[in-house]
Amino acid sequence: KHVLKIENLHVSVGDKPILRGVNLSMNHGETHALMGPNGSGKSTLGLAIMGHPGYEVTDGSITLDGQDVLAMEPNERARVGLFMAFQRPVAVPGVKMADFLRHATTNVRRPDRKEGEDLIPMREFRKELKDKMQHLRMDVEFARRYVNDGFSGGEMKRAEILQLAMLQPKFAILDETDSGLDADAVRLASESIAEIGGREKMGLLIITHHDKLLEHNPPEFTHVMLGGRIVETGGKELAEELHRSGYDRIRKAYPEAD
Ligand code: ADP
Ligand code: MG
Ligand code: MG
Repeated sequence: KHVLKIENLHVSVGDKPILRGVNLSMNHGETHALMGPNGSGKSTLGLAIMGHPGYEVTDGSITLDGQDVLAMEPNERARVGLFMAFQRPVAVPGVKMADFLRHATTNVRRPDRKEGEDLIPMREFRKELKDKMQHLRMDVEFARRYVNDGFSGGEMKRAEILQLAMLQPKFAILDETDSGLDADAVRLASESIAEIGGREKMGLLIITHHDKLLEHNPPEFTHVMLGGRIVETGGKELAEELHRSGYDRIRKAYPEAD
């Protein structure tokens, strides 16, 4: 069983300390909700796990099945099975979704492939892409569009979910996959995530301010981040409480963290 383990993680952006000792352990097959007020460090944690260059780890460790993740380049992290859908994805004009996904999928499935060697064969790839898109009730035309170029909020999220379905990572971090979506789109996203990533299939770390995304993905664990630390961990009732009542109780209970 795969385990992603974060211990005493300290991360700075520029010279500013953001994460100040994060501990979090996830098993494959578990769903964890990561909550906390804006600016508490949730996205920073995700970006540090993925190896974003602007986020400097100054102390602590991240391991996947005992392997040192911090020693890996970002694309190696993707290859060993880590995935993050970005909160503000960048547009890649001139690259079609299908081509982008074919490269990304090849990178993950053929770890020993050298630069310039063959990608996953087109026919095999197209078939799988089409099957997955139909399964997710996506229009296959969508794959011909340029990556995130002129995508609506809902289309960006659908693109993320398609990436998740194609890459089948061991652990996926979904950073506010519901932001800017209407209720129907969130429900569809929630169902799709449950179908491709739910129970048993991967470890999910879901960052969300809304309860709808968790509807089909009830978290076994909910973590609350405040001031760059996880100050409380509970079950799904903790997510429900925070959705209902906000962070006042947390702020009062941990004044030194805020
Ligand atoms: P959250 O996702 O919980 O809203 P973030 O991780 O985005 O929080 O941000 C945590 C803190 O780190 C904030 O004070 C934010 O301003 C700062 N921060 C994060 N990324 C950057 C960055 N690239 N440049 C400067 N400050 C950053
Ligand atoms: Mg935020
Ligand atoms: Mg964020």
